[in-house]
Amino acid sequence: MINEAVKEKLYETCRGKLSHAYMICGPDGIGKRTLAREMAKAILCADRENAPCGICRACKAYSAGAHPDIEHLVPGGAAGDIKIGEIRRLKEVCSVTPISGDRRVILIDRAEKMNINAQNAFLKLLEEPEKGNVFVLTCSNAERILPTVRSRCILLTVPTSSLQEIEQAVSKYENASSKVTARQAAVYSGGIIGKALDLMAGDEKHPYFLTMQIMKALCEDNVIELMKVAQLITDRTALEQVSEGIEVFCTDVLKHISGVDNLHFPVENIVNATQKLTRTKTLNIIETARQSVTEAQNSAADVKMLVQKMLLSCREEING
Ligand SMILES: [Zn+2]
Repeated sequence: MINEAVKEKLYETCRGKLSHAYMICGPDGIGKRTLAREMAKAILCADRENAPCGICRACKAYSAGAHPDIEHLVPGGAAGDIKIGEIRRLKEVCSVTPISGDRRVILIDRAEKMNINAQNAFLKLLEEPEKGNVFVLTCSNAERILPTVRSRCILLTVPTSSLQEIEQAVSKYENASSKVTARQAAVYSGGIIGKALDLMAGDEKHPYFLTMQIMKALCEDNVIELMKVAQLITDRTALEQVSEGIEVFCTDVLKHISGVDNLHFPVENIVNATQKLTRTKTLNIIETARQSVTEAQNSAADVKMLVQKMLLSCREEING
């Protein structure tokens, strides 16, 4: 099971003397939220030596989603941030004694979404902690947290998982209709379980699958198909992801030419592509893909136009 060792380390922390604030850090999709909830359960467990025991009243209440001493704060609203008003509400909550035991856990998801006023108000809470309150924050960008706030939290960094761990964890989702194998999803994930699961789900608009369709259409010089896929790329993020995908695909081609087999994309797609792609052409396409990312970042041009421009330049490169 992914993150089992990390989980065990968190439990150990909860069984000892607690600090009043923890910040679980790591990239998106690595399982921070799950770990924060595991930690909350262990903190609230009545059996301190075996927390979370799973059988005490607190554990049962927690599992049923009915523990009274847990507070959640998640970014919301149109701006998707956490505002000072919500921190003030937390201050009120924290000033009251916990109901069922001697501890209360306050979970703050995506703490980097606290705006500057909220962070300053939160700092006050950390500076004058009310007894019994334990804050558990998750954060994917610790740079966006004030150093004064950060230094008052114990930082727990979630490591990426190994290729084998991810492959094993997602292999249960592999079946005859899977578009990718567990192995490919693991290689693609870069050690982040959420990315592997996302890919295994097989959504055809996933940049991975869009990239495969684009490369196929390019190699077959099928312009109609190429423009059909282009229609699915509607914003700058998608354009960047697909450009990166093309770069990774081309790197796979180069790897295959050199006899390396740890590929991100299905080997049959790469083999097909090598019939059309020479080393020089492949390097030129990588360059074209990179240029369109830079262009997308620096120009206000319409995304559809940028996508078409990139794909037609690639086509020119391969078939011109
Ligand atoms: Zn328990």
